[in-house]
Amino acid sequence: MNEVCFRTLHLEEPWTLESYQSVGGYQVWQSILKNQTPANEIIEQLKLSALRGRGGAGFPTGLKWSFMPRGMPGQKYVVCNSDEGEPGTFKDRDILRFNPHQLIEGMAIGGYVMTATVGYNYMRGEFYEPFARMEAALAEAYSAGLLGKNILGSGVDFDLYNHLGAGAYICGEETALIESLEGKKGQPRFKPPFPANYGLFGRPTNVNNTESYASVPVILEKGGEWFLNLGIPNNGGTKIFSVSGHVAKPGNYEIGMGTPFTDLLQLCGGMRSAAPLKAVIPGGSSSPILPAEIINELTMDYDAIGKAGSMVGSGAVMVIEQGTCMVELAARTAHFYYEESCGQCTPCREGTGWMSRVLHRILDGDGKMEDLDNLSDIASNIMGRTICALGDAAAMPVAGFLKHYRHEFEHMIRTGRRWVDDHSEAA
Ligand code: SF4
Repeated sequence: MNEVCFRTLHLEEPWTLESYQSVGGYQVWQSILKNQTPANEIIEQLKLSALRGRGGAGFPTGLKWSFMPRGMPGQKYVVCNSDEGEPGTFKDRDILRFNPHQLIEGMAIGGYVMTATVGYNYMRGEFYEPFARMEAALAEAYSAGLLGKNILGSGVDFDLYNHLGAGAYICGEETALIESLEGKKGQPRFKPPFPANYGLFGRPTNVNNTESYASVPVILEKGGEWFLNLGIPNNGGTKIFSVSGHVAKPGNYEIGMGTPFTDLLQLCGGMRSAAPLKAVIPGGSSSPILPAEIINELTMDYDAIGKAGSMVGSGAVMVIEQGTCMVELAARTAHFYYEESCGQCTPCREGTGWMSRVLHRILDGDGKMEDLDNLSDIASNIMGRTICALGDAAAMPVAGFLKHYRHEFEHMIRTGRRWVDDHSEAA
């Protein structure tokens, strides 16, 4: 589809100002500045579009922007979360690399609407190429007079800075990101207060994901209703799905929300080999796994995937073929969260370590049947008892693996060997 965040992809050098302007880029920004469009009109279009936060939480963007105390005097900030550390997710880096000006325009519009005169684009520490592209795009935008003070004589100020993180997964959590931007150790804050009231340097701050900001100029150019109709009610627009795993053509696919999973799989060229689909992790490593017989019946949107017990999350679709060991996958996933826990709260710090150790013990052939109930207990004692969502993100996948593939864990504990698909008690 490629109509929104990837709309420059067909061009020779899609990242340049010239390319972006050739598809109508910055016209919305210039029109807003010229007409001094009321902020409420812009927010109404965003609400109509049903754009939901593309970083993982799926919170309605228009509503989020309306929470910022616009009338309050003093400094406010807009911040873009380009930290993109969720395993399986690789969409934001392609917006930064191939369509950086659309993100800049989206952030500038956000600054105007929320009366924030300064923006920061916080990028993952490993994003050297995307960072260079963003820096070049910022320089182009400044020299074209599209950013800075009194932009195009409008009286509107907006300065934007790129910031490279230091490579910690937890800095993708918005309050940890804010702490990191302030030069502190990247650890999540208690909420409330929320960033809209107490954010960067204690000032009102709006944090959105890269894809969310980058969607805004197109929504305002073509209208909220147009965007809504690219998807389905309550799940407006397109969404970039980063598809990885056992498919023929892994990559980023921008498709309408509500597209059947089977259509997405077809776009990816189907499975990579003769081994049939076993399961899918639909929204990054923190989303619970869904077996083939469930995902094959679903559409790719927040509501359908949510009702099935998982999440669209950041849109990282990991496709798994038959023959894959679910115990090993669960153990690897659990170890990732153990490594990335910031250690502030006990259930997450201790629980992620327990889950990882128990799962690796089962893998090593030393598991006991009671380990499975212990794993469920640990997961449910983490959920809802931590400062940030990393605790839940660690617990939910483990619970999902046990719910759908408990027989594989039991088989390994009993026999010390992996489950073999298509054989009831094989190997
Ligand atoms: Fe840190 Fe985990 Fe607590 Fe989040 S849930 S604040 S990552 S210890």
